[in-house]
Amino acid sequence: MKKQRLVILGGGESGVGTALLGKEKGFDVFVSDKGKIKEKYKEVLIHNEIEWEDETHTESKIINADLVMKSPGIPDKVALVKQIHEKGIQVVSEIEFAAKFTKATLVAITGSNGKTTTASLTHHILEQQLNVGLAGNIGDSFANQVLEEGFANYVLEISSFQLDDIVDFKPHIAVITNITPDHLDRYEYKFENYIKSKFRIAENQTKSDYLIYDADDEVIVNHLKNNPVQSTLLPFSLTKVIENGAYLEGDEIKITIDNNKIIMPTKNLTLEGKHNVKNAMAASTVAHLLKIRKQTIRESLENFQGVEHRLENVLKINKVQYINDSKATNVNATYYALESMDAPTIWIVGGVDKGNNYSELFSFVNEKVKAIICLGVDNDKLMETFGGMVDVIVETQYMSEAVKIAYKLGEAGDNVLLSPCCASFDLFENYEDRGRQFKNAVRNL
Ligand code: ADP
Repeated sequence: MKKQRLVILGGGESGVGTALLGKEKGFDVFVSDKGKIKEKYKEVLIHNEIEWEDETHTESKIINADLVMKSPGIPDKVALVKQIHEKGIQVVSEIEFAAKFTKATLVAITGSNGKTTTASLTHHILEQQLNVGLAGNIGDSFANQVLEEGFANYVLEISSFQLDDIVDFKPHIAVITNITPDHLDRYEYKFENYIKSKFRIAENQTKSDYLIYDADDEVIVNHLKNNPVQSTLLPFSLTKVIENGAYLEGDEIKITIDNNKIIMPTKNLTLEGKHNVKNAMAASTVAHLLKIRKQTIRESLENFQGVEHRLENVLKINKVQYINDSKATNVNATYYALESMDAPTIWIVGGVDKGNNYSELFSFVNEKVKAIICLGVDNDKLMETFGGMVDVIVETQYMSEAVKIAYKLGEAGDNVLLSPCCASFDLFENYEDRGRQFKNAVRNL
C-alpha cells in the first residue's frame, strides 16, 4: 500500500518531533522550512533519513500531501497555507498528531499568562506519584516524547496557535488560567477570535472530562455563559466560595471535588503573588482529580522551586532584593508582579510596546514604585505615561547601565524588579536572553 504523505511545515522542536513520530508510524515524511533549520535538528533529520529542505518551500513537494502538520509559528494567512487549505488537505498541529498515538491521560494547560508556571507546578506535583511527562510549548516536543518515552500521563502546555489546528484532540483535564488580549495580529485583531481559540481546548471534551478555569476572570465566565461546554466544570476563585472546585478562604486553599475535600495553607507556598495562588489552585485541582495524596500535594507546593524568569529571586545585595521577571511581556503579567511587591520598588520596564494600555498599573506604581528605569525602543511612551508619578524616571538602551542605575538608587529593604511589560526583540534575542543579561549584570555588581 502506498504510504501516506505527511508534510511538516517548520523544522523546529515540534516539527522535527512530529517528523520522527510520523516516520515511525509509517508515513512518507517531508519537512519544509522557509527559514533556516538549526544544525541540531538537521542532524536528527539526516540521521533518521527524513527528507527535508530549508530556506524555501518547494510547492510541488508540499501540495501532494495527504496530511500537513503546521508549526505553531506559521500564520494561516501565509499564501502556501491558504493553498493547502484550498486543496482540501487536512492541516493539523503537533498536539493533534501526537495525541493520536498515545493512550496516556492528557492534562492540557492554556491561558494568556501562567501556562508555564502552572504546567511546571502541576508536573512537579504529579511526578511524585505518577509516570508523567511535561511537553508542548514548554520546550520538549510532545510528539518526540510519545515516541521516545511513552509516559502514562502528560502535562501539556498549549498555546492558542496549537489549538487552532486541532480536530479530535481531547484532554481528560483542561485548564484555562486566564484570558487577556494577546497575539491579536493572528486573530484578525478580534479578541473574540482569540477567546474562541483558547476554548477549543474543551471542544471535544465530554461530561467525564474536566475544565478547570479562573472563575474571577470575567472574559472566561461570560464566554462560558454564552457558549456552554460538555465538560464537568471545576472553577477556582480568590474571591468567592466554590462548591465544586477551589477557592481561597483566609490563608487556606480549599478544594472540593465530589465532596472530597483538601485544605492547603498558602503561607508555605514557595511562589509569591496572588497570581501564583491561582496557579497553585489550578495545579492542585488537577492533582486532586488524579488522586495524588493530599500530603504529597501540600509538600510539593512547598518545595517547588519556581520557573526561571518568572518573579525569580536573583540575589540580595546590600539588603536590596533583585528580581527577574523577564517573561512578563504584557501588562497583565506585570500587574501581578507589581501587586506582589512588598517593599519600595525600583522598576526596570520597557522593550517593544505591543500597544499597551498601562492604566491598570497606575495605582501600584503610585503606591509601591520609587523609581522607574526605562529600557528599550519605546521609552518615550513610558516616560510620558509614568513621568508624573515617580520622583525618578530615567532611560537607557543598555541592561548593564539599567542595573547600575538601580544599584545606585537602591536602599536597604528595596526591591529591584525587572518586569518589562513588553516584548524583548529590540535589544535582546528573546526574553530568556533578556533575563540572563539582567542576572549577569546583577552578579557583576
Ligand atoms: P505563559 O507560559 O503563559 O507565558 P508564565 O508562567 O511563563 O506564563 O508566566 C508569564 C508571566 O506572567 C510571568 O511574568 C509570570 O510572573 C506571570 N504570571 C504567571 N502566572 C500568572 C497568572 N495566573 N496571571 C497573570 N500573570 C501570571
